Amino acid sequence: MLRKTGVPTLDDIRSITPELERLNRGPVAVIECFQEIPCNPCYTKCPRGAIKEMIDINERPQIDYEICNGCGICAIACPGLAIFIVDYNYSKDKALIKIPYEFIPIPAEGLIVRALNREGVSIGDGKVVRVQTGKNQNRTSLIWLEVDKSLAMDVRNFKMEEGAYAR
Ligand code: SF4
Ligand code: SF4
Repeated sequence: MLRKTGVPTLDDIRSITPELERLNRGPVAVIECFQEIPCNPCYTKCPRGAIKEMIDINERPQIDYEICNGCGICAIACPGLAIFIVDYNYSKDKALIKIPYEFIPIPAEGLIVRALNREGVSIGDGKVVRVQTGKNQNRTSLIWLEVDKSLAMDVRNFKMEEGAYAR
């Protein structure tokens, strides 16, 4: 399924989903990198050593959720845009998903957007609460998207409505 469509299976997703107990304790990286490819910036850039050393550069990344603090450095460094930061307890009803983003226009903070799942299907609204950019981020922004808590492990992209203001 993944090879044909690019969309991971439920088993794939289960395999990279932190336990609810960990999600409840604060932001954490969710690494959706399902194929063996010659790539390792997630490992080399992590300042906390939360991603296990890749002896073979083709290895899939393995993260220790107890060491990861959700800083987002790996999400910005990942050329595959395959890492998302999930802050499940952002508020009582909302989760915050930090989504790597390389398109233009970049959404403005405060914008309400359509939240999309991994298949690109709209599954609700999201609010852009912060756009994290910087010279040291190359062209990858991190879009901080507030969504309903129930969608925390489903929202992985977003779409701006036509005519929505952007910068
Ligand atoms: S979010 Fe930060 S601490 Fe966690 S794996 Fe990525 S770089 Fe390391
Ligand atoms: S940097 Fe991204 S694409 Fe490369 S191995 Fe890590 S998660 Fe996969």
